[in-house]
Amino acid sequence: MINGADPFEHALLAVAHDETNAFEAVVPPIVQTSLFTFESYDEMVATYRGEKVRPVYSRGLNPTVRHFEETLAALEGGEDALGFASGMAAISSTVLSFVEPGDRIVAVRHVYPDAFRLFGTLLKRMRIEVTYVDGRDEEAVAKALPGAKLFYMESPTSWVMEAHDVGALAALARRHGVISVIDNSWASPIFQRPLTLGVDLVLHSASKYLGGHSDVVAGVVAGPKALIDRLRGETLPYLGGKLSPFDAWLLIRGLRTLPIRMKAHEASALAIARRLKALPIVREVQHPGLANQLPPGLGGTSGLFSFIFEEGIDIRAFADRLKLFKLGVSWGGHESLIVPGEVVLQQKAEPNSAHAFGIDPRSVRLHVGLEGTEALWRDLEEAIASAITT
Ligand SMILES: *Cc1c(COP(=O)(O)O)cnc(C)c1O
Repeated sequence: MINGADPFEHALLAVAHDETNAFEAVVPPIVQTSLFTFESYDEMVATYRGEKVRPVYSRGLNPTVRHFEETLAALEGGEDALGFASGMAAISSTVLSFVEPGDRIVAVRHVYPDAFRLFGTLLKRMRIEVTYVDGRDEEAVAKALPGAKLFYMESPTSWVMEAHDVGALAALARRHGVISVIDNSWASPIFQRPLTLGVDLVLHSASKYLGGHSDVVAGVVAGPKALIDRLRGETLPYLGGKLSPFDAWLLIRGLRTLPIRMKAHEASALAIARRLKALPIVREVQHPGLANQLPPGLGGTSGLFSFIFEEGIDIRAFADRLKLFKLGVSWGGHESLIVPGEVVLQQKAEPNSAHAFGIDPRSVRLHVGLEGTEALWRDLEEAIASAITT
């Protein structure tokens, strides 16, 4: 009993001290706090000695973040998971947990641009070398792996959508004693569960489909406890890219609708990809679902794909005429987006890497959102018709 508190106040205080739930609330509370106090000197000592596990400071353990991590670990079929402040924090913290100066990483080509830049700047300065391979060429991968520390995959890649036989590549890495990591942001655990295919660690930009509402920047890594513990013990606390409680709460909310969102993205994007492919003005559609079959382990396709225009269309006029598809980077939210390849190729970032991603200057990347297939198709048709130059 808390002295002097009225019953309502007492209930609120009791809830604040209840770590597990609040009145069986269907939505977990946001534990928006930097630190947690101890009941007694003895409890503090027990915690410092590691005899008791409880939150101390939110850069370490926070109950809301932990709730998200446990949910994501279950979704990916992993023993454990760790949330990060961004997808890039998840990538850098993972990679730096397993390499040191003089080591070599093998990566599939066309990885996410800022991962490529991390490899070409910070890692290069630390004398960590990265060899790029075409992930569809298993012989090339097998040749590159001996002596490497880490094998970094992304499948499908997020511009030209190169898709790999993830299980086969993971088996190659294992045979050579190389730790394998995959960026699974495109497929999400709804369509691809890399840990069940033999990959050691799976990571996400949770800013994309896991969040799903374009209102959070976050990342997450899942895998066996022993490997996650390495991140938890070093790169997460010392690089400090910790996921915040409020962002974790937004992700918990987003995950509830992940299965139905992914199915809606898949259906709309496939329909639009097929219709684009039938147009004479479209040279090529880069969508894994248009191949005869999906690679083993990939159970479906998401809303992100690219297509390449023939000559005879003004891409600037096309982009400006679109009403539902907005010009914008990122993807994975409710909204439809486009990025013209010719714009990305003008980016001044160093290392000047845009050409390394296989981007055709006449390509357009689409994210097909949840607005409805027919409305989106009408938008594309009208914009194409208005931008024909010949
Ligand atoms: C966006 C993205 C990232 C980086 O994630 P952030 O949350 O923006 O840091 C990594 N990989 C892929 C495939 C992405 O699309």
